[in-house]
Amino acid sequence: MSNFSKGELSMNAQSTRPQEETHHLLKLKYQSVLGGAKNFLKNRTKTKNRSSCSSIRVNWLITCEAECPHCGLRFRGGNHNTEHIHPISLGGTNNNDNRIQLCKNCNNARNSVMQALLGHPPFSKIFPQEWDAVERYLLWSEITIDEGLSSGARFPEVHELFLEARFAGESPVSGPKKAFGRLSTWGVGEEPNYIGNTAALRSAHTKTTTGTISSFLRRKARLFFDRLFDYESPTNTGQTTSSPLREEVVTGQSAVDESKVLPKVTQGEQKSNQELSETEVSILRQKWNDHALNCLAQNDGSFFVGDFWQLVSDERIARGLSWRSFERALGVTHKAAMPSKVRQILEQIGLNFIFEKTENGYLIVEASEEE
Ligand SMILES: [Zn+2]
Repeated sequence: MSNFSKGELSMNAQSTRPQEETHHLLKLKYQSVLGGAKNFLKNRTKTKNRSSCSSIRVNWLITCEAECPHCGLRFRGGNHNTEHIHPISLGGTNNNDNRIQLCKNCNNARNSVMQALLGHPPFSKIFPQEWDAVERYLLWSEITIDEGLSSGARFPEVHELFLEARFAGESPVSGPKKAFGRLSTWGVGEEPNYIGNTAALRSAHTKTTTGTISSFLRRKARLFFDRLFDYESPTNTGQTTSSPLREEVVTGQSAVDESKVLPKVTQGEQKSNQELSETEVSILRQKWNDHALNCLAQNDGSFFVGDFWQLVSDERIARGLSWRSFERALGVTHKAAMPSKVRQILEQIGLNFIFEKTENGYLIVEASEEE
């Protein structure tokens, strides 16, 4: 785990004390969920059938350019599916109130958290001895949906597992702007209603005069900054503070030979006005997609984040581009940490994966389907 996320987690733990009281209140708030799970595990009840969000609703989500409530990834093609917030394997129902559309990778990461805490179903075999863990997982699962992902820090040990599996230990750089809440809270034809949507875009969606003016001003500001970056002096584009090389050192990735790459980085900055064409970007994504699928199909079905970033780095050097313009063309957040950049690239190519923390850095592993 990187220093950054360690610090952040301990900060969260501090700011959420006293934990006991918070947990007590949450147990009251979600007593029907907890009671249902307890009865289900005690009586070894048969699990309910699960089903996905209807295709009419899915079409509406796509029309709205809806995003994942956890990570803000825009739903496209098959990159999203239906999460049962109170898992079916713990007695959850298939009702709209218990379902929400998430991106597949967030859904898989939630599932991996449950596996890490509780093992594999049937969970009646761990009842009642592991009830505390079941309870913590269920409360974490509910509040991260009802109050936004960051509220999960109230259960630090659960939340850390999620941040590791989904974001390689980092908190997401930005949250959703156009996400929808539980299926019971919205209908086809309605605007994105998720409580965790950032306020700026919610007001842009409101068709009031102020909304129109503020979105106009935002557009103006965007254009201004776009111009600023384009005309920025090439010597100013070198970002030593967020250099991917530095991040690799911090996160313990040793794949890059610095002596080989460092001089190239500075040379590359001089050509920062060059751009990658959309065609080149698609070719690169295809190439990385093939590579990732190959890695997952071979050996132990995984690859290191640092090794993948080396491939990206090589392509940039070959083109003599600055990190800023290269990452901008790829649609990757320049200021993000290296594993986050890898995540963004893998999400763009539609890979189904989670991170796995190891002594030698983070691995990308193929995600297993929901149990
Ligand atoms: Zn997501």
